[in-house]
Order: sequence, then structure tokens, then C-alpha cells
Amino acid sequence: LLNESGRLSSTIFEEMSALAVAHDAINLGQGFPDTDGPEVLSRALAEAVSGGKNQYATIAGSPDLRGELAEHEALNGRRRPDPDSEITVTAGATEALSASMLAFLSPGDEVILFEPFYDLYPAIAGLTGARIVTVPLAPPEFRPDPVRLREAFSDRTRMIVVNDPHNPTGTVLDPSEMSQIAELAREHDAIILTDSVYEHLAFDAPSTDPATTDAGRDRTIRVSSASKTFSITGWRVGWAIAPPELTRGLRVTKGYLSHSAAAPLQAAVAEALRWARQSDFYDRLRAQYEDQRKILLDGLGATSFDAVSPAGTFFSVASTEKVPDSWGRDGTEISERLTANAGVAVVPLQAFATPENRHLYTDWVRFAFCKRPEVLRQATQRLSDSG
Ligand code: PMP
Ligand code: GLN
Repeated sequence: LLNESGRLSSTIFEEMSALAVAHDAINLGQGFPDTDGPEVLSRALAEAVSGGKNQYATIAGSPDLRGELAEHEALNGRRRPDPDSEITVTAGATEALSASMLAFLSPGDEVILFEPFYDLYPAIAGLTGARIVTVPLAPPEFRPDPVRLREAFSDRTRMIVVNDPHNPTGTVLDPSEMSQIAELAREHDAIILTDSVYEHLAFDAPSTDPATTDAGRDRTIRVSSASKTFSITGWRVGWAIAPPELTRGLRVTKGYLSHSAAAPLQAAVAEALRWARQSDFYDRLRAQYEDQRKILLDGLGATSFDAVSPAGTFFSVASTEKVPDSWGRDGTEISERLTANAGVAVVPLQAFATPENRHLYTDWVRFAFCKRPEVLRQATQRLSDSG
């Protein structure tokens, strides 16, 4: 993430994917599905392109997509946000998260992140000049310690970033944990930036939305995207749902970043949301990933990796403590050697941590299970064949 001189460097995902290509390895590192999303997408996209939807969308996003997003939000019994003043379409969740941090964080502010973190958060928070305060999720439970969480807040706290379900650990916070976050944010008048890109991949219990609590209602920016839900990580369509005042601020910033997300892709995502709402798509998606989770975990059971069954996301983290010494000393070395020698790429967990807390995660790696069953079986077979 940061090189020796403190400058931004390439992401671990790019690095491991390049290594995977170089060694013709199965890529369980970078999280992207190896199948296309529902067929409605390509049909709707072709119609949008031939139907003249090829010029700039408005900065806020196409009204049709914002209308569908309001319905999507209301699906799980949540309040239906106002498409005009509370919904902004972005170039992936990436842009929604970046615009939110750039709009609301300034030098002197503090922003709280949980570790291990998605690498975008410290990278963009760092650009704003805000001070990063972290709360480690300690293995093997990977849950926030309520005392450390309280201590992380100060009178300078401007924002807390909550990724739930959580990449890389797969943790899904329970309602009491989320309500502690919302209460602390209210006490300190801080913004809660939720990253909900895995919202449809919570297996045991749904993810809690802090915007549905009294404490969180007026201060939550809820970010999500079509990337994971429709297996279109390359389309770059995401969104932010926030109260009107916060929406105004993030739209101004967002307008100077990408201006608008790709217009024909917005049209196709709107169509897919309409279709999904009237089908059992979300249930089938979750069931599919539950099956893939089982295939990965069963396969890893025959190896020396000690994997955690995730409550959400399409990632499983595994302890490397029992893997043979010849595979490397820590997660980073093991990830590189596995890619080169066993033909399976994974990501070391320490890439998602600050230097101060890296020691907690040195003996852990992350496996992605957003791959076809036969690919997952082949990957775990390669690992068990290698020792
Ligand atoms: N947040 C998290 C936690 C992620 O894992 C990812 C990667 N898919 C993103 C954000 C980026 O999502 P998008 O593709 O919508 O930009
Ligand atoms: N979200 C993906 C992951 O965690 C990576 C996306 C990216 O490369 N930006 O693997």
C-alpha cells in the first residue's frame, strides 16, 4: 500500500494477480467471480447502447437507476430513501467511498478504521490529511473489542468506516456491536461510512444497517455496488445512500472525480435490479456462495491450513501456523511460494494492516471462493498435493 518513502504503491490485489498470471496459477487472491452475472445484464446493456444511452449521465446518476436503488434499499424492510436527495450513483463502491472521505475529512480530523482493512480506506483517508486511528479485530474471532472501540473515539473523530460483511475476515457484526458503533458516533458527532458491497452475502444472519438505528439515522453514508451482487466487478457501478446534507457534499466531490458512472451500464444495472426484485435471485446467489464456501472449506480441511468459516463475503481467512516450514515463514512468503510452486494464488492478511498491528496477522492468508466449484476443487487439490 505505502512504499518506504510513504508514497502510495500498487495494491496487493494487482501484485498477486500479476504473479498468478506469471505462474499460470489459480487466482484465489483478488476477489472477482469467474462467471458472468445474470443474462438480463447483457441484453439490457445492448439495448441501452443501441437505444442512445451513450452520453453523460447526470452527476447524481440516472433517475431510473436511482429509482430502482430506492426499491432495492426498501427490500429488507429498510426505509425507502428519496432518489433525488439521498441516492448518488458512483463509479463502483470505490468512488463512493473515496468521494465520502475526500468530502468530509480534513487535516486535524480523525478517522477510525478496523484492521485488517480494505486497502482503499487508509490510502484515501491518507490523502485527506486526516489521522488514521485503528481498532484491530484480533484473530481468531476477528471481532471488535468494545473497550478498544470506545477508546478509539475522541473529540476529533469525524468518521468511522464500517465494512460489514467484512473483507477480509468474513465477520458480520451483530446488532449490539453495530448499535455500539452508532451510539459512539452520535456521542462524538461522527459520520458512519458503511461499506456494504457484500450485503447480499451474509450467510447466517443479515448485516445490520446503522442507518436503521436512531443514533445512526442522520449520520450514515451507506455504500454498496453491483460488483459482487451481479458478478460485474469490471462494470464499475456503485452507489451511496445518505441523508440530503451528506449527499450534497459527496456529490460535489464525486462530480470532480469521475463526473458520472458509465451511462449504458447504469441503465443495464437498473434493469437487473428490477428483474432481481421480482425473482428469487438474491436467495439463489447466497445459496450458491454457501455451496462454494463449503467446497473451499472441505478442500482446505485436507491441507495444513486452518480456515475460518466466514459468516459473510466470499473470502475465508486461514491460519498458516501448521503449514510446513518449507512453504515460507509468514503469510507473505507463503502466498508468493504457493503461487509459484503450488499454482494457487492467495493474499497475505498482513497486507491489510498497519505496521503496528501487522504482527497479529503475519500467520494468516485469505482465500477467495468466488470461483466455480471445479476451480475451487482443483485449487485445494493442488494444495493438498503440495503437502
Ligand atoms: N469495498 C470492499 C470491502 C471490497 O472488497 C471491494 C472490492 N470489491 C470494494 C469496496 C470495491 O468495490 P467496487 O468494485 O464496487 O468498487
Ligand atoms: N475487492 C477485491 C478483493 O478484496 C479487490 C478489488 C480490487 O482489486 N480493487 O480482493
